[in-house]
Amino acid sequence: MLSLISLPYAADALAPAISAQTLSFHHGKHLKAYVDNANALLPGTGLEEAPLEEVVIRSAGALRLNAGQVLNHNLYFTSLRAPREGNRPDGRLLAAIEAHFGSFDAFWDAFAKAALTQFGSGWAFLSADAKDRLVISQEPNAGNPLQKGLVPLLTIDVWEHAYYLDWQNRRADYIAALRPLIDWDAVAARYKG
Ligand code: MN
Repeated sequence: MLSLISLPYAADALAPAISAQTLSFHHGKHLKAYVDNANALLPGTGLEEAPLEEVVIRSAGALRLNAGQVLNHNLYFTSLRAPREGNRPDGRLLAAIEAHFGSFDAFWDAFAKAALTQFGSGWAFLSADAKDRLVISQEPNAGNPLQKGLVPLLTIDVWEHAYYLDWQNRRADYIAALRPLIDWDAVAARYKG
């Protein structure tokens, strides 16, 4: 069975980019509903005790969609922290980003563009492939790069529930406001390169 993760920061830690109200609804209502829905669908599938990643890879239909949303939200919420000026990765992850994208700014521009141009509900991801190469991708709805054999490192939720209370239709402003919030230590810990 799947469980609702606890947030590793206070409800107002990400404000004003993400208000306490948005975070409260997003975690306590939206993510909780995906967890509850998935758990209601798990009995009889043989995946009752499987890790979340395995449920996502091996399921289909409504279970796949709800479990995918749990996996994506867990990655999103654990990739954020209180804002920092000049926020950027360092060490081997920064070196990999510079090698793959030319510079951190060029990476961020491409990542933000992927998030901005995802049509409708979905996600932008930074992932690593089997050779530790970095890949930016868009996933509609509950999609996850795990299903393509990639290791997801970082994601931005661009479902409207992620930003509408704070930013209304201004998705670009929401994405820009996330740049100081990315927990690059958490992202680097996922990167094996
Ligand atoms: Mn969401």
